[in-house]
Amino acid sequence: MKEKKLNGTVIVTYRCNARCTMCSRYKAPSLPEEEISLDTIKKLPKMYFTNITGGEPFIRQDLKDIVRELYKKSDRIVISTNGFFTDRIIDLCKEFPKVGIRISIEGLEETNNEIRGLPDGFNRGYSTLKKLVEMKHPDVGFGMTVQDKNCDDLVPLFKKAEELNMEFATASLHNSFYFVENKNIIHDREKVAKNFEMLVNELLNTNSPKKWFRAYFNHGLINYIYGQKRLLPCDMSFDTFFIDPYGDVMPCNGTKDKEVMGNLNTQSWDELWNSSQADEVRKKVRHCSRNCWMIGSVSPAMHKYIWVPLFWVIKHKLKFWTKHKYSMFENKVVKDYHDGKITKEELDKCSTCDLVSKINDGLSEASKAMLKDKSGEEFVKEDLKKQGE
Ligand code: SF4
Repeated sequence: MKEKKLNGTVIVTYRCNARCTMCSRYKAPSLPEEEISLDTIKKLPKMYFTNITGGEPFIRQDLKDIVRELYKKSDRIVISTNGFFTDRIIDLCKEFPKVGIRISIEGLEETNNEIRGLPDGFNRGYSTLKKLVEMKHPDVGFGMTVQDKNCDDLVPLFKKAEELNMEFATASLHNSFYFVENKNIIHDREKVAKNFEMLVNELLNTNSPKKWFRAYFNHGLINYIYGQKRLLPCDMSFDTFFIDPYGDVMPCNGTKDKEVMGNLNTQSWDELWNSSQADEVRKKVRHCSRNCWMIGSVSPAMHKYIWVPLFWVIKHKLKFWTKHKYSMFENKVVKDYHDGKITKEELDKCSTCDLVSKINDGLSEASKAMLKDKSGEEFVKEDLKKQGE
């Protein structure tokens, strides 16, 4: 029987040099000596797609070894990065010309630097992107986490991506142990939705079927920021997984607390994947009400339930040709809120924003102990100094 390939995300480190306002992971880094080893990576299953992420993955000096190992088992690899370590990125891309690179850019210069908290972050990220384009690296793009502060830059950034012939990925604010956040929330939903609406129309107006499906994804983001039920079922942990720096295999990065299916440092893949612990996590996923809408969990669902986005695309392309653009008010909740039938407080209650509970950062005991003596920021700064950065 043909082996079933999975969709995997490998979180190679929790160390990060950025200071994003919507992600506090930089305050909770992993210890380098505990981070996922090549021996553990060798135990991963066959994958049709692998995302390498962090923290900031390029902080790991052995990232090339990790990519080399992953290419033995994955058809396609995409690395998510803040784009700061230009030389390391270029060097890796020279050795792996097919690897995808997605750089997070949170807006035009001022907004990006304010959100990311990286000195000169925009110019570093943008110059990395330009160098990759100059060397004709085929799979380059940037990603933006859309929120109140940067939503006005959404369409201008999309246009920049078009100019440079690059992929453009979007997300919105999420709360989870992975982001070490529970207070993220969109305040002016209508303003943010309006910008998504403009983006949806830009995407529908292109000649690219891939972008029409992206339009559907962004339509789903409007639904998400209004706290509504996901447009597609979530099947994370069934044919998709995340693995963290400690070798813990999880369904996704959207849960409030870390949900562990097993540990690949100590178990074989088959033992872990077929365990009763993994099945318990799958049961929780079936009843999960967090309604995340992140590309990691939506892209597999869009492929699996292709007729749903396909129907939406056909309907909206037909409307488009008759000069009827997409309207955010097609979402009933958007209209109801606009008409005052639902209050902001009611919508806030539908979000995952939680001002009361304690955040679980998913760190190991050793990483937690390290944070008793110094802050995560100090630790990473010293670490990078040792690396000559
Ligand atoms: S909705 Fe899916 S991706 Fe989000 S937390 Fe639940 S299981 Fe994870």
